[in-house]
Amino acid sequence: MSDESSEPAESEPLWGRYSELRPPEIEAIRERAPVAFVPWGALEWHCLHAPIGLDSTKAENICAAIAERTGGVVLPAIPLGVNTIKPYKGFGHSIDTSSELASRVAEEICIQLADERFKVVILMTGHYPPEQIDALEVGAQRAREATDGTRIEVWADNELLGDAYKGDHAGATETSFQMLFAPGSVDLAALPDRSLTLDGDGVMGEDPRDASAERGQRQLEVVLQSAVPKVKSLLAERNSTQ
Ligand SMILES: [Zn+2]
Repeated sequence: MSDESSEPAESEPLWGRYSELRPPEIEAIRERAPVAFVPWGALEWHCLHAPIGLDSTKAENICAAIAERTGGVVLPAIPLGVNTIKPYKGFGHSIDTSSELASRVAEEICIQLADERFKVVILMTGHYPPEQIDALEVGAQRAREATDGTRIEVWADNELLGDAYKGDHAGATETSFQMLFAPGSVDLAALPDRSLTLDGDGVMGEDPRDASAERGQRQLEVVLQSAVPKVKSLLAERNSTQ
């Protein structure tokens, strides 16, 4: 959204990144599609070839791709990873946070977005050990109890990949998303010349050397096929209960 001449037609979804929007732009988006996406990330070791913020980059760009098709606002990714690979396997460079901190942040952000009259709030986590999902679910539940009329959902990108691709950690799936969303940020040549393991390298899933931006694009299409209709039906439900 820049100026009036580039304003999308009535039928086109209106969306934007919350931190970059001016108040009237937020109001126009909310009027048409009162959904807020809260990408949830982490600062976590993703082997030698991929950046620490992979989960944040992935979650934020997936949310933006969904919002482009449904309308809505996308908040900046929250980099609070619970049970990262640091306590799990001892890999450094990760900033691990407690479940309680993540729950509390999720709770307060959801309450604030409900107060800002968003009718659907989707916490979309790119970091998805069970401890992370539980922490977000606890925060979401507290927010549901404290608010009225806002639907609050906790989603993880790996649940939206269907059977076609498997969520992993620094493997071919995550690395493909990173290559798609942040070209030039992956250095496959940094990997040791042998097969990769969880204990030795902090990699779970298919070998990241099978990753490509093209595969990332195909993964994104799968995610969109599953997520876009879900968001649209949540918005339709909210409209019919107004
Ligand atoms: Zn990850």
